[in-house]
Amino acid sequence: MAAYEFIDHTYDVVVVGAGGSGLRATLGMAEHGLRTACVTKVFPTRSHTVAAQGGIAASLSNMGPDNWQWHMYDTVKGSDWLGDMDAMEYLTREAPKAVYELEHYGVPFSRTEEGKIYQRPFGGHTTEFGEGPPVQRTCAAADRTGHAILHTLYGQSLKNNAEFFIEYFALDLIMSEDGACQGLIAWKLDDGTLHRFNAKMVVLATGGYGRAYFSATSAHTCTGDGGGMVARQGLPLQDMEFVQFHPTGIYGAGCLITEGARGEGGYLTNSEGERFMERYAPTYKDLASRDVVSRCMTMEIREGRGVGAEGDHIHLHLDHLPKEALQLRLPGISESARIFAGVDVTKEPIPVLPTVHYNMGGIPTNYWGEVLDPTEDEPDRILPGLMAVGEAGCASVHGANRLGSNSLIDLVVFGRAAAIRAGQVVDPAAPNPELNDASVDQAMARFDAIRNADGAIPTSDLRLTMQKTMQADAAVFRTDKTLAEGVEKMQGVAAQMADIKVSDRSLIWNTDLMETLELANLMPNALTTIVSAEARKESRGAHAQEDHPDRDDVNWRKHTLARVGADDDVRLSYRGVHLEPLTAESEGGIEMKKVAPKARVY
Ligand SMILES: Cc1cc2nc3c(=O)[nH]c(=O)nc-3n(C[C@H](O)[C@H](O)[C@H](O)COP(=O)(O)OP(=O)(O)OC[C@H]3O[C@@H](n4cnc5c(N)ncnc54)[C@H](O)[C@@H]3O)c2cc1C
Repeated sequence: MAAYEFIDHTYDVVVVGAGGSGLRATLGMAEHGLRTACVTKVFPTRSHTVAAQGGIAASLSNMGPDNWQWHMYDTVKGSDWLGDMDAMEYLTREAPKAVYELEHYGVPFSRTEEGKIYQRPFGGHTTEFGEGPPVQRTCAAADRTGHAILHTLYGQSLKNNAEFFIEYFALDLIMSEDGACQGLIAWKLDDGTLHRFNAKMVVLATGGYGRAYFSATSAHTCTGDGGGMVARQGLPLQDMEFVQFHPTGIYGAGCLITEGARGEGGYLTNSEGERFMERYAPTYKDLASRDVVSRCMTMEIREGRGVGAEGDHIHLHLDHLPKEALQLRLPGISESARIFAGVDVTKEPIPVLPTVHYNMGGIPTNYWGEVLDPTEDEPDRILPGLMAVGEAGCASVHGANRLGSNSLIDLVVFGRAAAIRAGQVVDPAAPNPELNDASVDQAMARFDAIRNADGAIPTSDLRLTMQKTMQADAAVFRTDKTLAEGVEKMQGVAAQMADIKVSDRSLIWNTDLMETLELANLMPNALTTIVSAEARKESRGAHAQEDHPDRDDVNWRKHTLARVGADDDVRLSYRGVHLEPLTAESEGGIEMKKVAPKARVY
């Protein structure tokens, strides 16, 4: 192995990731007087959070009656009763505070006529415990909410003297001999230097792993690096089988075409030109719920009625709509279709595919963001020195299915909670422990092996095979057979990492090496997703298993924990869902029977 030299840094806290969750944690840590560094592989305001348009949920009741108990009920139901009650209560109770803080930090929210924060309706958000009309709960800064939040939080973090390490790629965690996290190693992309960060607390805010799939609405940087780092330490990932699909991502590019396109009269066709949704959902047709439409599209493709040379996608027609209507109502969509599919929507259909949109699963944490390393006797055992927040984490508030606009609020509530907790458990006066050399050596041996990998398979080829396998076999439509085949295929794909080829050996702006490191992170995310899905013999939320169509609360209301072993074998265990909310009804909490399981119908 080449001898690597390090530049050393010592902090109270190092946050990995500068999306909404990472920046909110960074800002909070710095405000609590902790010496805080934020390490990020992309410039902070380029994190995927920037793409979030719709908004952020909080029961401000600016546009009609609302309260946190209703928001909690909707979140519990949305999660298909797999979320942890304490975490869902914490999320929804703290949401208004977290949004007002954003307002005071300077987020330019859209306004009502009286000057209050504007809120819009969103799917699954209701009044009166699901019995009343839809509620306007989603706070928005026009259609640029994520953008506004990111820019504001970055400015505030700088103001509070947080230090940024931008375009540094975090490689691996450094763990003590007794399994506590001590820091991490990062590679500076533009000059090739290697950096050791010694920290009393590491916070993983690395986002989702949408790029394990062929078609994803998330940025190319969403490669589950935090999950990869955690899995390599033998730690579990939780509820990975729950992956949210949106019916209309642009084929190949994955960019989102909003549901509004079908709302304006757009419809889907198969290779026979048939409006197949009429067959599956005679009443709502193309406007049936997201998971239903996604499942029907996948069925058409599997049965040989997909469009295109490989018969692997579906057409979305807007070409029958008047040009003026398209210009007025869907200008953004027309532009996206032109740029990303080369299609003039007034003349031709848009090629679309159910597209991965969000990962409900991730690194298990409690509602303070502290990472859990559960054992059978201690299902909530805390791993010292490590936190995870945002899409990388699993608190779990989204359970088996996330409601729209509940992710942005998750980012800021739990980013903030992690900072509050770190303020309690991290002592700025205490010395940093000495780093465990063995752990550093192990990480560098892995880095060196990948850097010098001289096998036969180029990274982009293996990545494509993985993405197509996941898209075909761990998709919206799952059966015992497809999942079993998928597990076998994915194990074969993961094994091929041993034969990967990296052509560029340099350490300066080596995108070949970076993409290979990202692929090495995607692999355990993909494997745990498909193995966890294969094992779950029920349908719940985003996990729709055709051979087990009903939810089974007796046997399956539990979280999956998946650990990846040396030979890519995935070991599963389970931990109970937290059934108790934080406060009893007598203390202003929620009445238990309101959130008791029942069928999820809308
Ligand atoms: C197109 C789109 C629209 C959406 N719209 C909405 C919406 O309207 N409302 C809503 O609630 N949710 C929405 N979501 C979901 C939500 O935006 C995301 O779940 C959320 O932004 C994720 O934020 P994050 O902080 O977890 O991570 P991200 O914003 O993905 O940021 C990850 C950070 O980690 C860093 N990082 C990763 N790996 C490494 C590494 N190895 N080394 C160093 N740094 C690393 C990156 O540089 C980046 O800064 C949308 C998602 C998409 C894709």
